[in-house]
Amino acid sequence: KRFEDYKLSDEIIKALTELEYKNPTEVQSKVIPLALDKKDLVVKSQTGSGKTASFGVPICELVDWMENKPQALILTPTRELAIQVKEDFTNIGRFKRIKATAVYGKQPIAIQKTELKQKTHVVVGTPGRVSDHIERGTLVLDKISYLIIDEADEMLNMGFIEQVESIIKELPQNRVTMLFSATLPEAVKNLSQKYMKTPTDIEI
Ligand code: AMP
Repeated sequence: KRFEDYKLSDEIIKALTELEYKNPTEVQSKVIPLALDKKDLVVKSQTGSGKTASFGVPICELVDWMENKPQALILTPTRELAIQVKEDFTNIGRFKRIKATAVYGKQPIAIQKTELKQKTHVVVGTPGRVSDHIERGTLVLDKISYLIIDEADEMLNMGFIEQVESIIKELPQNRVTMLFSATLPEAVKNLSQKYMKTPTDIEI
């Protein structure tokens, strides 16, 4: 399979060519077609497998550039991962002019508030800071159509699962949810059973 075989626009294909992503990795070839069909997915895969682009590509393809409010929320356990994921979205969405914003602790909230006030299609953040922005009303959730829970097992290890759960409860019901995790402990499975619509399981 090649990226050209999926229902992707020229802008996304061009970005992947520039990134020198010649062929989809295994996780990408499994996730991209299902995500483009808006299926809920539980994906067991390691970092380094190309998992970020497996959700980055379909989300960049599906978001509506015209919409001013955020349409995708990506939750990550760490600030470093949030920044990395934001950069990946910026690269993949470059020719569609997709704007991604990262929000995380230890950066002054005022900078992030200013960024969130401007048009942004994708918000990537750690659970604590995302909750903070929700409470302050600086992160508007009513147009969120895509939720990604990245490294769910790490969220659990770091004690973020309850915070993740309280964020999910604030989101519109009509959305696509994808969960990525290297391992699937009970608490992670629980999360998928509670908040996802008959997800397809993918194991790499
Ligand atoms: P990730 O698992 O998302 O952290 O990605 C691991 C690394 O693989 C990153 O440096 C990506 O830039 C790179 N990568 C992702 N997808 C592809 C691909 N289809 N072809 C080549 N490199 C890729």
